[in-house]
Amino acid sequence: MISVEEALERILAEIMPLDVVQVPLAESLGHVLAQEVIAQEDMPPFANSAMDGFALLSKDSQPRGGQPPRLRVTGGVAAGYVADHAVTGGTAMRIMTGAPVPPGADAVIQVELTRSDDPQSEWVEILEAVAPGNNIRPAGEDMQHGQTILERGSEIGPWEIGILATLGWATVPVVRRPHVAILGTGDEVIDVDEPLQPGKIRNSNSYLLEAAVRRAGAVPHRLGVARDTVESLREKFTEAMQSDLIITSGGVSVGDFDLVKNIMTEQGAINFWRINMRPGKPVAFGHIGKVPLLGLPGNPVSAAVTFELFGRPVIRKMSGYTRLLRPQIEVLVEDGVSDRAMRRHYVRARVEWRDGRYVAHTTGNQGSNIMTSLLNANALVIVPEGGVEVRPGDTAKAMMLEWPEV
Ligand code: AMP
Ligand code: MG
Repeated sequence: MISVEEALERILAEIMPLDVVQVPLAESLGHVLAQEVIAQEDMPPFANSAMDGFALLSKDSQPRGGQPPRLRVTGGVAAGYVADHAVTGGTAMRIMTGAPVPPGADAVIQVELTRSDDPQSEWVEILEAVAPGNNIRPAGEDMQHGQTILERGSEIGPWEIGILATLGWATVPVVRRPHVAILGTGDEVIDVDEPLQPGKIRNSNSYLLEAAVRRAGAVPHRLGVARDTVESLREKFTEAMQSDLIITSGGVSVGDFDLVKNIMTEQGAINFWRINMRPGKPVAFGHIGKVPLLGLPGNPVSAAVTFELFGRPVIRKMSGYTRLLRPQIEVLVEDGVSDRAMRRHYVRARVEWRDGRYVAHTTGNQGSNIMTSLLNANALVIVPEGGVEVRPGDTAKAMMLEWPEV
């Protein structure tokens, strides 16, 4: 048996980021930047006013003989326009937020610190002395020409889109989203809309994995269920080979019908491991032709947890992410973990922030067929291999799947 870390390392060594495509800026949300973004201009591009007020020479704002100075207003400059003359000694110009600072002026005083007869007045009194640069946002204050603003591999969110728009990126080079074929296996597995018959169960894995694949940022293709025959599997795999990644569930344990392994050996290459973990000991990894295949166990909880541990990082690496793994934090395990396992145990748990720390509460029966234990779980508490005991109140590491909202 190999460790989770070793399995992950071996899998990721075979996975490369996909090719780069250009997408319109507005459609780039959730994609991964394929190259770094370097500012080709200063931002802001010109010195501009941070306030509505008056542009002036700062030295003209000093009181004279205890009286506020009176300056002649020579005009105004609105956002989007450029002043047609300079500010000279003894004069001021009305200015709006975002308007370019007229030549000559070295400060802006906000309108609240001035007095004048009316908005069109030809005179303004300056009620407070201001320093050079006051209320002026210099060119390049935010971003400088030549500066690296976004790293390759960063996910594009609304704020990144704002930055890209500011820098004039109408289209964005991103890594193509992976297409993932999802294949169920097993003669006992029927589709969700079929009535249950003796010995049959509904196909939960394919739907669960389809949603998990989509949430990981890839495009899922649910290909139905292969029967436990070589012919049926071969046919499904032919279709699945159109994708960037194939994820199967079931058919990889040591049973009579464990055919996924055989097909992989026939049509590609196979690595098959028993991984020192629970749930989800048997995981197959290999290729069908050139397409990587991740064979997850059939038990729904095992499929869900092994997708988190192996499938999601594979999809993220293909998608161009440089950070692949969920964050781990230290938690207090309120109820402890009752069953001791020799294998590394990923325990479904609800983690909450309480009294200044993260507290985990496990979600009941941890059997790999108990799907309801996935409900309310937002974390996997990690119990190290070797039969480590976690008593109520002990601390442990937890892999966070979702952060609790408040
Ligand atoms: P296997 O790995 O094929 O031996 O499957 C292990 C367990 O998972 C068996 O109890 C299967 O019935 C169950 N199983 C396999 N595939 C699915 C599926 N698509 N949905 C729900 N349960 C499944
Ligand atoms: Mg099976």
